[in-house]
Amino acid sequence: MAPQNIIAIVYDYDQTLSPTYMQEQVLFPRFGINPGQFWKRCAELVREQGFDNELAYMKVILDYLAMDRPTNAELRSLGKQMTFYKGLPEMFDELAEGLLTPEHEEHGIRVEHYIISSGLKVIIEGSLLARYVKAIFGCEFAEDAEGRITFPKRVISHTQKTQFLFRINKGLLDMSQDVNDHMPADIRPVPFSHMIYVGDGPTDVPCFTVMRKYGGHAIAVYNSEDPSRASFKKCYQLATHADRVKHIAPSDYRRGSHLRLLLEEMTAEIAAGMVDERRRGAALGVVRAPGH
Ligand SMILES: [Mg+2]
Repeated sequence: MAPQNIIAIVYDYDQTLSPTYMQEQVLFPRFGINPGQFWKRCAELVREQGFDNELAYMKVILDYLAMDRPTNAELRSLGKQMTFYKGLPEMFDELAEGLLTPEHEEHGIRVEHYIISSGLKVIIEGSLLARYVKAIFGCEFAEDAEGRITFPKRVISHTQKTQFLFRINKGLLDMSQDVNDHMPADIRPVPFSHMIYVGDGPTDVPCFTVMRKYGGHAIAVYNSEDPSRASFKKCYQLATHADRVKHIAPSDYRRGSHLRLLLEEMTAEIAAGMVDERRRGAALGVVRAPGH
């Protein structure tokens, strides 16, 4: 049996951890791209040529940057400028400090953070968040012999995001491993019941559905400072009419916020469940591998 001592908090990126889209915050200003024209061109490729949304934006980036042709290293350096919702990235240090009790730690229980985004992985890797997360999954460009971006290497559409929940569940973080390989439930490192998914809207519905189906936990977050209320309305619909997600909260990650209380309570409850399971296992003589 696997130790199953990890609590995984999995975040979408755009509009979940940050109020903006990463392209708009750092890529467009750097290369002088007009956002309206960029997204219009993407929409045309989708509508007129049947492109997938994510391949459309990757193609339009390559088209717009045909002269500049940056390297992935240049794109990564743009990530440094990215800013996030209130409370980030401090929350990651704060959660590492006093959320789990000494008893939890004795059992080897720990919290890991993951990001699954349909945006560009390399930009998130360059951000202040990168050092706190165990893995980042996102769209990627391959490079030519000179290191310049040349062709999409990995595309993560919103429906494909669920594949990465299964990768975390099975511990298959290396892309060369086949996520479809069968793996018995008791050797999967992160059961869905030990996972919390945080997303912001319709593009997260497939992930919310996986969490609901397999006993995971989910929170939909909204920007309470969005004057149009569009962000709140998406979440309200998901929770109230579509029954996709039980909890919605403003995207404020500071200590004491509704979202922090939810994250901390869910984490504490999962950890308590792990301790109970170990106690029951010990009483029955069924012992999990040491958690350290
Ligand atoms: Mg999002």
